Amino acid sequence: MNILTNHLPTAELQRIDAAHHMHPFTGGDALAKKGARIITRADGMMLTDSDGREVLDMMAGLWCVNIGYGRHELAEAAYRQMKELPYYNTFFQTSHVPVIALSQKLAELAPEPFNQTFFAASGSEANDTNIRLVRQYWAAVGKPDKKIIISRKNAYHGSTMGGGSLGGMAHMHSQGGLPIENIVHIDQPHWWAEGGDMTPEEFGLLRARQLEEEIDRLGEGNVAAFIAEPIQGAGGVVIPPETYWPEIQRICDAREILLIADEVILGFGRTGRWFGSEYYGIRPDIMTIAKGLSSGYAPIGGSMVSDRVAKVIAESDFNHGYTYSGHPVSCAVALENLRIMEEESLLDHVNQIAAPALAKAIATFEDHPLIGEARSLGMLGALQFTPDKSRRAPFKAPKGTIGEIARDACFANDIVMRHVGDRMIVSPPLIMTEADTEVFVDRATRALDQTYDKAKAEGLL
Ligand code: PMP
Repeated sequence: MNILTNHLPTAELQRIDAAHHMHPFTGGDALAKKGARIITRADGMMLTDSDGREVLDMMAGLWCVNIGYGRHELAEAAYRQMKELPYYNTFFQTSHVPVIALSQKLAELAPEPFNQTFFAASGSEANDTNIRLVRQYWAAVGKPDKKIIISRKNAYHGSTMGGGSLGGMAHMHSQGGLPIENIVHIDQPHWWAEGGDMTPEEFGLLRARQLEEEIDRLGEGNVAAFIAEPIQGAGGVVIPPETYWPEIQRICDAREILLIADEVILGFGRTGRWFGSEYYGIRPDIMTIAKGLSSGYAPIGGSMVSDRVAKVIAESDFNHGYTYSGHPVSCAVALENLRIMEEESLLDHVNQIAAPALAKAIATFEDHPLIGEARSLGMLGALQFTPDKSRRAPFKAPKGTIGEIARDACFANDIVMRHVGDRMIVSPPLIMTEADTEVFVDRATRALDQTYDKAKAEGLL
């Protein structure tokens, strides 16, 4: 029996899923008891599940389906490429047309001095590449002691040993011996949660200057790089104070360290610019890319490498690569995705329609009794829950209790938002229209009202 074509009942699919499929970041037993929601189709911003319910996807899958679901041009690009050349590698002095074309396109889209890309199949792999790239760079210029990479607490940079170590997620570090050696973490610029009585501007400077202090503590001769997302995504859509990035850039300019901008979420339009670094005027040495590069239609990631670093790496043998580095089908899909983004002027749509509509929608929640902060930037938004807005107070209940109630209420109201602690975040497809934001406000209002009522009834407020 072909399970793909046989439309089994939901309960049967859930039973098989529970019996054989291990889900990422999920307690299997708890999920097995309630059964996973099974998504069967999608179009635009709407998912359809196996019971026929239509769910508004305010997370673009996992921050990746930038052009929305259902674009058959990408399927056709994959089909054409699979027939022509389904696979070949880029090791051993060979190349192929899709990887050549995509590398050229990326060089065209990225700011100077980015002209070279090292491909991977995911953001995690690309960040693992970056660890080796920056260390190899310093070794090749005669400074092999420069090995330490500074990252930030609550950062997410992937789930491999390298990516998970670069990340600063305590619940990940508590398992499996992370972080690996020579990766350290400074504090994040999360004013709402950690800014105390300071103004956001003062706090942004204070947190940026931790980088300088950390470089001094470790010894500049031992530090290879600083890695950060311009806006921390999975950490809770942490939009830094205005003062943060200029100060980080000043420190990186003054000190002999490389700057890696993790553009896995922000790259390809989420801030209304091709790269989040451009939005903030950051000048990184390496940019991690993935997700929006193919709008998630095929797995692909990469490290975009600035001329200075690429030149040194090109002169040495870089003993690194993946079977799927520059996979021809993924490259063809990514090219088609970028073609659509350009031809349909998707960045203009973000700047003129989608981001203002999202901002207006998010602002409608400002006075909701659960919400202390409602913020958006480009196609990212965050709704912070608090029992007392004036004090930016946390709840007495364990962190995430209200967030989980809200997540369940979103489920019940056919909308996908994600909770990070007691904060709801959104990262919708870039194609969002004003009509979509009305559906968003309607469903999210119901979900948040129900969350409030339940939290109140349970004495959590
Ligand atoms: N970096 C960032 C900023 C991410 O958000 C993610 C994924 N959420 C990754 C890296 C890892 O990417 P992947 O899941 O494709 O390995």
